[in-house]
Amino acid sequence: MSFIELKKINKKYENAERNSVTDFTLNIEEKEFIAFVGPSGCGKSTTLRMIAGFEEITGGDLYIDGKRVNETAPKDRGIAMVFQNYALYPHMTVEKNIGYGLKNMKVPAEEIKKKVDWAVDILGLEEYRYRKPKNLSGGQRQRVALGRAIVKNQKVFLMDEPLSNLDAKLRVSMRNEISKLHRQLGTTTIYVTHDQVEAMTMADRIVIMKDGVMQQVGKPMDLYEHPINKFVAGFIGSPQMNFYNVTVKGEEMTFEDGKKITLPDVVAERLADHQGALIMGIRGEDIKVDEQNRELYKANVQQAVVENTEVMGNENNLYFTYGGSLTVARVSKYELSQMGDKLEFVFSPTKMHFFDKETEENILEK
Ligand code: ADP
Repeated sequence: MSFIELKKINKKYENAERNSVTDFTLNIEEKEFIAFVGPSGCGKSTTLRMIAGFEEITGGDLYIDGKRVNETAPKDRGIAMVFQNYALYPHMTVEKNIGYGLKNMKVPAEEIKKKVDWAVDILGLEEYRYRKPKNLSGGQRQRVALGRAIVKNQKVFLMDEPLSNLDAKLRVSMRNEISKLHRQLGTTTIYVTHDQVEAMTMADRIVIMKDGVMQQVGKPMDLYEHPINKFVAGFIGSPQMNFYNVTVKGEEMTFEDGKKITLPDVVAERLADHQGALIMGIRGEDIKVDEQNRELYKANVQQAVVENTEVMGNENNLYFTYGGSLTVARVSKYELSQMGDKLEFVFSPTKMHFFDKETEENILEK
């Protein structure tokens, strides 16, 4: 049995017309770091809150550490939570805030001190120990909130958008801190975020949700390389994957504006049963502008005019219209073009994804 098992978990809020979460099934192993990701309103928090016990499960079974806990009170489920709005007690110092939960649980004072010492040390809060929240930065406050969770010594951490209130730079450093903490403590963690970058960089496995339904679960790179449908392909990765309406006939692929590309045999063969109108998707980094790739696929070199650029330094995005769609190519700093430049490029032929026009399923990943 896995450490946490969600079996066909459903949630229908009272008075709601339809389910907020439908048949959510997932096994989580001990020590795993799982991220739930998806657009706002897709059911991430509802699922997390059902695991925590704050929301009633209206269908299905939830097991934690071998025990069915559907009706178990939150405090008896062995979980600690960290929220976006970490309400610290304003009149208490850092150490009092961290120890407060334990005091409530009637843990002996000596024991509390030991645990607070440990948390303060592991979170780098020693010099702020006697400060009150108003004299802390956002990142330090969030570390205090983490401290409150870790001293409880629970089996599972549930985190709901814990970094949303922090500025961009702080988010990156807190991301690293939470990952480090997870490596040190090994506590099974479920982390809710709408930010695919957070999910990609922190999680062992990612669950992608849409409209209350799990779309795909897998390791970050598996989702990136093998998205099961167009939604996952578009949600994971920044800039977004490029999509085109195409028609495939044998080895010939025709774009909406009449442009044509010859598909390599291996791809054409796999599409033999899917002739006709399809959606082709390709990531920006798989649109190649370098000489070697243009030489390699010279029969299929395409042209466009750069309409816009996003210069980031280490890598750069070139925007242009091709095949009826706005396209972004991600190029290195050595391949940077200017607006108005003519661009020659190739689609890396084995990196194309093909989606069914009706179901939007990835045809090659079935
Ligand atoms: P997410 O965390 O992915 O943003 P939520 O789990 O908060 O999404 O919400 C999922 C769906 O459930 C949304 O359509 C939302 O409007 C609905 N919902 C959330 N909480 C309630 C509630 N207390 N009563 C009725 N509907 C709710």
